[in-house]
Amino acid sequence: MNTVTRPATAYTPLPITPDALARLRDVDDAGQPCVPYVDHEGGSPLRCCLRPVAPGERVALVSYAPLRRWAAETGATPGAYDEQGPVFIHADPCPGPAGERVGYPFARAGALRTLRRYNARGQIVGGRLLEIPDDETQGFDTAFDEAFADPEVALVHVRAVEYGCFHFEVRRPA
Ligand SMILES: [Zn+2]
Repeated sequence: MNTVTRPATAYTPLPITPDALARLRDVDDAGQPCVPYVDHEGGSPLRCCLRPVAPGERVALVSYAPLRRWAAETGATPGAYDEQGPVFIHADPCPGPAGERVGYPFARAGALRTLRRYNARGQIVGGRLLEIPDDETQGFDTAFDEAFADPEVALVHVRAVEYGCFHFEVRRPA
């Protein structure tokens, strides 16, 4: 964890919602039961609190379908664009992201991300690779500006390139 103060972000990175978390802590989006364990090493990205696991926390690795969850709220029908994949969450109810947001979650200069854009119907409408620059917040802000410059884009999913795993989503600002 670095202690450098980072500027507030222009867009809001969204964690998994409390309702979805409650379900994932029972049965995940692949139909598998949640299996909690104590992570003694820490460091994995928690999608409930948008911060790394601290050593000794009780967590679970579950399969999550972010587009399906979003579509259930909005009435969209993503069809074949629905995807699911592994995410770490706290195994027990947790407060979510704490305090004032500083920087984007899991941002590290040099790391590779893919930003996938979806329209209001849940269909993919483009994407791009982002190598996070030294100014991490500016790099993400600019990439989201670019995504939402297309009026069709309703939301953006940020994923790690190497593992393909979902990090967080950003919706078009109201
Ligand atoms: Zn949490």
